[in-house]
Amino acid sequence: MSDTDLLIDKLFHTGHLEEDEYRCLIDGRTDELAGKLAALAVQKREGIYGKDVFIRGPIEISNICRNDCYYCGIRRSNTECDRYRLTQEEILACADTGYELGFRTFVLQGGEDPFFSDDVLCSIISEIKSRHGDCAVTLSMGERSKESYQRLYDAGADRYLLRHETADRTHYGRLHPEEMSFDNRMRCLQDLRDIGYMVGCGFMVSSPYQTSAELAKDLRFIEEFRPDMCGIGPFIPHKNTPFRDEEQGSAELTCYLLSIIRLIYPSILLPATTALGTSDVVGREKGILAGANVIMPNLSPVRVRKKYELYDGKICTGEETAECIRCLEGRINKIGYRIVVDRGDIRKE
Ligand code: SAH
Repeated sequence: MSDTDLLIDKLFHTGHLEEDEYRCLIDGRTDELAGKLAALAVQKREGIYGKDVFIRGPIEISNICRNDCYYCGIRRSNTECDRYRLTQEEILACADTGYELGFRTFVLQGGEDPFFSDDVLCSIISEIKSRHGDCAVTLSMGERSKESYQRLYDAGADRYLLRHETADRTHYGRLHPEEMSFDNRMRCLQDLRDIGYMVGCGFMVSSPYQTSAELAKDLRFIEEFRPDMCGIGPFIPHKNTPFRDEEQGSAELTCYLLSIIRLIYPSILLPATTALGTSDVVGREKGILAGANVIMPNLSPVRVRKKYELYDGKICTGEETAECIRCLEGRINKIGYRIVVDRGDIRKE
């Protein structure tokens, strides 16, 4: 067996590689290796989830953000961004529509908008839970204090998505302004875990200054932290950010990493992200075939979808949710999978 075949074998059987071994696997990437990894990842996933694909409905509640991340289209310095914030009624209406369409998880996502205080969010969370008691509520609202996370959890929130963005401190500093801190990001993830949330982390693939060394650290971080979910997608530049001229990440590398992550932690919930679908017209299908098992069709009102533009060219901003879900269902069925009406909790091996 070649060196890389031995590494794949070790990963498959132990879920573990050293940092330099991950680097070697990433640097040695070929179509053939990608095919092998994907076949093994699919085998592991099918043993746990069969052909089921879970759906989550993100509701993009605000594009107002106090942060200034260099990569993000809704950063506070982007004066071209047309800002909005949904009302409680609008958010609840999105959840009601989603429920009728078969969604059993709602993801409230947004910029770090001070309007969404604990009181405001708690009231929305408890209303969604009282209307749709069989659904999970996931939050993706950025960094908050432990007390705040606790209050939101007590109001009924089940899960929290907070991408770590990069597990390398120096790299983190190159993607964010000085006032943001790697340590605080990690503190938040630990607090969320300690409180009892199901926790999702994640990172962008081919973000500026990222090499296989940083990616290897991300993979080691996933081994150690063992998140319930992990969102990864290619970096895609946005025209009104300092990274406007940087190169876009590839769907192929993203899929390669999805397969590796599935082998690290076979039960993990792995979305084929919208960014993956934006970088390649059949990116989400490729993601599923590489080991992903979740898709996240947008539940936001059509009038705001274009405004929640984290990167250029974001797909699915024109059609109503019902159309989106029909389109995705067709795509998923075509590759031999099915979308299920389910909360989509993690299933342990
Ligand atoms: N404010 C929330 C939600 C952030 S948006 C939070 O801090 O968690 C969700 C994710 O989109 C980010 O975590 C980031 O990884 C991703 N993202 C932002 N800009 C992007 C870009 N230009 N290309 C690809 N992904 C991007």
